[in-house]
Amino acid sequence: MYICFDIGGTNIKTGLFGHDGEMVEKISVKTPSEYRQILEILILTAKSFKGVCACAVAVPGTCMPQDGQVIFCPNLTALNGHNLKHDLENALDIPVFLENDANMAALGEYFFFERNKIKNMIFLTLGTGVGGGAILNGQLLTSDISLFEAGHININPEGPRCGCGKRGCLETYANVGGLLRTYENLSSGNVKPDGANKVFSLYKSGDRVAKLSFDVLGGCLGIGMATLANILVPEKIKIGGGLSEMAEAFLPNAIKVFSKHVYPSYKERVIIELSGLRNNAGLSGCAAICMLNRNS
Ligand SMILES: [Zn+2]
Repeated sequence: MYICFDIGGTNIKTGLFGHDGEMVEKISVKTPSEYRQILEILILTAKSFKGVCACAVAVPGTCMPQDGQVIFCPNLTALNGHNLKHDLENALDIPVFLENDANMAALGEYFFFERNKIKNMIFLTLGTGVGGGAILNGQLLTSDISLFEAGHININPEGPRCGCGKRGCLETYANVGGLLRTYENLSSGNVKPDGANKVFSLYKSGDRVAKLSFDVLGGCLGIGMATLANILVPEKIKIGGGLSEMAEAFLPNAIKVFSKHVYPSYKERVIIELSGLRNNAGLSGCAAICMLNRNS
């Protein structure tokens, strides 16, 4: 059995997986505010199952996968500076694998849906933030430090302030907050929709401002995808995360803008489509990393 944790700013998701990658149990608890409490939840949960031979953890920020140190999680600062891998390995006495959550999700998507078909893939997750991960030559692209912060490539140097402190990152246009801000700006501040679902239902009822707002999101996503594709030339770019449920409202425009901006020789090579994994992308990636390391 593999015990997998996807630690978010709001919830800690736990998945127990069999050796074939089948999830047999899923638990979700609220994320406590202190590191000791978070660690205790992970340890007690892992110890409550018998026959667990490996553990993997997805963290919502920058980490050092081999060393095990968490560097910076903007929405869960309690983890910052702690060596989570080391602390868990000491308590559980099994191998523990650590990665950034979007990288884990990319690995999960690739392992469970694409690994027998393609070699190079980019995965983008659109939700509260914008995350990304890349598979190159069949391997997750990573290093001593977790990489591929696709949400923070620059779209507009004079754009809105991003959670990372910089201006005009892709995330500021292609996440939930960006969609709501665009809607508010385009309606001259008259309407403040109370969630992405609200903008989507307005879109479906023919609201012009909602359509324009999704066009802005799709346009920025298209430029971001073209930038990434020019560097890595993936066979597929796959889109996941909560906003991907609304893809009909923005993906056609994203693909149009992508085609206009991508390096011409790569245009026909890249397929853009929705993720096969739904809410369990991070956990599935954790299972995949355990499976890949089983015999190594
Ligand atoms: Zn940023």
